[in-house]
Amino acid sequence: MPTAPTIKEMTARRKDGALTGMRCAGCKKTWVTPVARCAACAGTSFETVTLPNDGTVLTFTIQNVAAEEFMNEVPYAWAVIRLSDGTNVTGWIPYVASERDLAIGDRVRYSPSYKPGVMFEKA
Ligand SMILES: [Zn+2]
Repeated sequence: MPTAPTIKEMTARRKDGALTGMRCAGCKKTWVTPVARCAACAGTSFETVTLPNDGTVLTFTIQNVAAEEFMNEVPYAWAVIRLSDGTNVTGWIPYVASERDLAIGDRVRYSPSYKPGVMFEKA
């Protein structure tokens, strides 16, 4: 049975530059946030997959108020990104102060960061 990555393993791989997901052995849906049970088919068997680092912005909102670890980053965009393999992931994009700075459909690239979450930069 394939083994699912732990949160600690996924975070370590992200810091090394590899966006990591867990792919359900049953329905092949990929999850970027660790899950114990597949929300699509209720499967419990997963394999670790390396995801592509590039994608496009599906939607976003601009954050002007943030948790303590992001206090020096505001404003920034909180976005849903569709990776080039079709996997959707939520993440944040620095230096976005208004809708003039980012658009739906813009190309972005995953950028390893010491900050929590998954950071993307405009490609
Ligand atoms: Zn599944």
